[in-house]
Amino acid sequence: MTVTETGPETTAQDAARALFAELTDRTPDGIWSAPGRVNLIGEHTDYNEGFVLPFAIPHRTVAAVGLRDDARIRVVSTFSDETVEVGIDELDGLFPTLRQAQGPSEETPAVPEWAAYPLGVAWALRLAAPEGAFRGVDIAIASDVPVGAGLSSSAAIEGATATALNDLWHTGLDRTALARVGRRAENEAVGAPTGIMDQMASMLGETDAAIFLDCRSLEAQLVTVGVAEAGLAILVMDTRVKHAHSTGGYGERRASCELGAEIMGVPSLRDVSTSDLPRAEELMDDVTFRRVRHIVTENQRVLDTVRVLREQGARAIGDLLVASHASMRDDFEISVAELDTAVEAALAAGALGARMTGGGFGGAAIALIEQDAVATVSDAVTAAFTDAGFTAPHLFTVVPSAGAHRDA
Ligand code: ADP
Ligand code: MG
Repeated sequence: MTVTETGPETTAQDAARALFAELTDRTPDGIWSAPGRVNLIGEHTDYNEGFVLPFAIPHRTVAAVGLRDDARIRVVSTFSDETVEVGIDELDGLFPTLRQAQGPSEETPAVPEWAAYPLGVAWALRLAAPEGAFRGVDIAIASDVPVGAGLSSSAAIEGATATALNDLWHTGLDRTALARVGRRAENEAVGAPTGIMDQMASMLGETDAAIFLDCRSLEAQLVTVGVAEAGLAILVMDTRVKHAHSTGGYGERRASCELGAEIMGVPSLRDVSTSDLPRAEELMDDVTFRRVRHIVTENQRVLDTVRVLREQGARAIGDLLVASHASMRDDFEISVAELDTAVEAALAAGALGARMTGGGFGGAAIALIEQDAVATVSDAVTAAFTDAGFTAPHLFTVVPSAGAHRDA
């Protein structure tokens, strides 16, 4: 038997095409895709109007899309057995309904949660570009991005749908505007109070570059990561502990940050610097202070990482990654035992740096390692998970990759 190597993009593209054919019996008008992302550093700083440094990964979500002769949207995904169908004129009524349904009434939501991502994008795109040529569409989605692993399968599905509809509906939005559409879908249609980082990374990614994003101005600069040329690799350690950002801790952390900013008398924690921390400690309770300290020091670590990458290269950023993880574990308290185990085992096996990545409460960690140590570090992390009685982690390397685009 001959085994042919296919990239993740090809696999998901084939699956999306097959699903589209099953749904419609025709070929799609086009194929669009958008990647997941890893955040190199800068966690929970985005909604505090601070700095982040994510990069797009090779894993992508693919949308095969075809225009219809009517004004209905049908969406299917390999993620689910359901076909969800709504009229374009029903979108405005749908999402307020869905939001209310997430309250204590426990009504059945009007659409399943997964479908609120692509349909929320359609809804938000229409609001952002009222002059578009809105026609019905069939959308078939497949993905190689691990779901709920902190690698932003959510931004990937938003980005694939947004680029597809932007082309087919002639809405003419630029990439930053499409990132905002994705975020609005996630915040208001799905109800997950996440920041803009993931969508910007998925829209703006470039080969070998991280995106240094100022989340206040949305000004983005590409920063060369240069991992491969330094003889290094970035290992993703997916703990397979699923997180959900529309519930629980994520919203609580946001609320603490808002309280901290209010106590400091500033619009957001972006406006607090490390020299303000002694005063912050006097003014607020211990928990709020530690949440604030994480955000303030993490913003500084992003700035430091960008400077070190530019001046010294990837080999010199390890300590900043380690300090970031400690801050998330101890001050922001968003790590879990599996993430700490992954980080500690990778460091013990010689990683230059390691940290959890993404919103926390599960998901993935990354380690910066020597290229020839991938097997050694992977074995050490797997062994540590076995010893601790955890489910085996999913381990793979990533390189900074291209952002959302039309594939065919
Ligand atoms: P993450 O972004 O870290 O993967 P999120 O909880 O933010 O985790 O987003 C995961 C959710 O996004 C899934 O539970 C599902 O509702 C939706 N989703 C992601 N990818 C797909 C897909 N390919 N098809 C359908 N829904 C998806
Ligand atoms: Mg997400």
